[in-house]
Amino acid sequence: MNKTKIVQMYKILSHTQPTFEETDNDWITHGLNSTPFKLLVSVAISTMTHDKRTVKACIALYEKISTPQELIELEDEELATLIKPAAHYNRKTKSLKKMCHQLIEQYDGEVPQTKEELMELSGIGRKCADIMMHFSVGEPSIAVDTHVHRVLNRLGVVNTRSSEETADVINTITPQQYKQHAHEWLIGHGMEICKARAPKCKECALRDWCQYNQTRAIG
Ligand code: SF4
Repeated sequence: MNKTKIVQMYKILSHTQPTFEETDNDWITHGLNSTPFKLLVSVAISTMTHDKRTVKACIALYEKISTPQELIELEDEELATLIKPAAHYNRKTKSLKKMCHQLIEQYDGEVPQTKEELMELSGIGRKCADIMMHFSVGEPSIAVDTHVHRVLNRLGVVNTRSSEETADVINTITPQQYKQHAHEWLIGHGMEICKARAPKCKECALRDWCQYNQTRAIG
């Protein structure tokens, strides 16, 4: 897809999708991102978990702890109970403990500021590191989850097999001025319009040049 079309896509999305700050965002309302440490823990808890369950787990957890030291002082059983609304809460209990030990031993309890260091932390993969770089470090980066990966492939903006590959391509081809909100617009579009099982193509503002829609019309 050429650059003109990518710019066109972002212009349309900027008019059809709100940014997180323009919505009643539960993460902001409940302080899931109120410190870099909480944002890091929140994104680790959010993997493979519905947003409402992530928020529920994090509210319970942050009533008890707000630092890496406080988290590792929790008994495993108590931590698992607090984050039980999240998927794989037992595995996440172990990885959160390990991550907090890493933060204390390697970074004096602070959250590291580079993607490479973030990805060395237990439970933090490419998507989580990109979210941290964007929302905590302030380096605009488009984090790619399942929604963003699906939307960009259906549109034909990318032709990729994994979220990591999509992240590499979309971060390379997106003009800098759209990186600030691209992640938010694309996730919103994927959750509300370009749904996994039943995309609402008839009401989609991008339908005229969407590869998936054109293929379907021909078929
Ligand atoms: S036209 Fe359909 S498949 Fe294409 S982006 Fe819109 S909703 Fe998704």
